[in-house]
Amino acid sequence: MILILRTQLPPEERNLALVQISRIVGSSLPSLIKMEDRYVLALDATHVDSEAFKLLAELPAVERIVPTKSPYKLVSRAFKSDPTVVMVGDGLTSDITMIGGIDAPTVIAGPCAVENREQLLTTALAVKKAGAHILRGGAFKPRTSPYQFQGLGVEGLTLLAEAREKTRLPIVTEVMEPDMVETVAQYADMLQIGARNMQNYPLLTACGRQGRPVVLKRGLSATVEEWLLAAEYIMATGNPNVVLCERGIRSYDPQTRNVLDLTVVPLLRELTHLPVIVDPSHATGKSTLVPVMARASIVVGGDGIMVEVHSHPEEALCDGRQAITPHQLSEIIRNIRAMLSLSFEEGEDVTHGYDAIHPHFVVR
Ligand code: PEP
Ligand code: MN
Repeated sequence: MILILRTQLPPEERNLALVQISRIVGSSLPSLIKMEDRYVLALDATHVDSEAFKLLAELPAVERIVPTKSPYKLVSRAFKSDPTVVMVGDGLTSDITMIGGIDAPTVIAGPCAVENREQLLTTALAVKKAGAHILRGGAFKPRTSPYQFQGLGVEGLTLLAEAREKTRLPIVTEVMEPDMVETVAQYADMLQIGARNMQNYPLLTACGRQGRPVVLKRGLSATVEEWLLAAEYIMATGNPNVVLCERGIRSYDPQTRNVLDLTVVPLLRELTHLPVIVDPSHATGKSTLVPVMARASIVVGGDGIMVEVHSHPEEALCDGRQAITPHQLSEIIRNIRAMLSLSFEEGEDVTHGYDAIHPHFVVR
């Protein structure tokens, strides 16, 4: 269950309420969570009987109780029925873009890894021109082999910041360890938690506490419940800006890199208010399959896509086989627009990112 306390509750009344609640439920309590202008308390309701529930509901400090029994609470639709809209970018160094709740798919695009200045700037300008809203690029790369390119590290972050300056696209990049969260957040507008780290609980908490929006990729073989509980870790720090990213799950057939679980998109829509995006690049591992699966991701209701783009995929230091070209990205965006039955004039200026594209995308 989730206890929602009254807004602007003085600290002494809050403390008194905690003592009363603890007495009623007969156990010590988890930490209070500050969500915008109020505090909430997420409790395992298994041992709370109807008598205790009534006593809790009658406490003067308690405004409302959400009687959810699901293991994840704050991410659930029961807690919040309207979709969460995550804002990315600060409006100063970059444009602000939205993910979720707007019927306007957000396109995150860029190279798998930041390789060098020229590669990143060329790709950044190209994805912007194609109509992307957020630039991606790995500076710290989680590679299967220790002998593969591991990313440029902090130098990569500075290049991403330069690309943002040139394009005004907000940037998202992966952070792999709790101790690096502050450093990465100095440069990035959005933090990415990769599939391999989905259940790295100290990392989830550190990213949540930092406060920037977080894109949380699905673990290589994570169940939906495990994934939502990982998102719950972030939300339990008081950070509501979480975007879920389906990127394919492990199976037995090496023909594709992973199996893209598109069912999860409408399923998550039922279970959570958080935005859901899809990464067809890591899901398929094959550039020829990316455009159609990108379109499919929008058909099933995805709030956006994350795609790997490289000007010369054959030269990429990482994941070249799944990289599409900027031209293919513009085709994907053109197709998504057409699919949403929106007018698209040949030669229309699509170089202004969010401002130019998102309003056109809106169907309602
Ligand atoms: C990535 O997006 O750069 C990445 C490594 O993806 P994943 O964590 O989904 O494998
Ligand atoms: Mn990659």
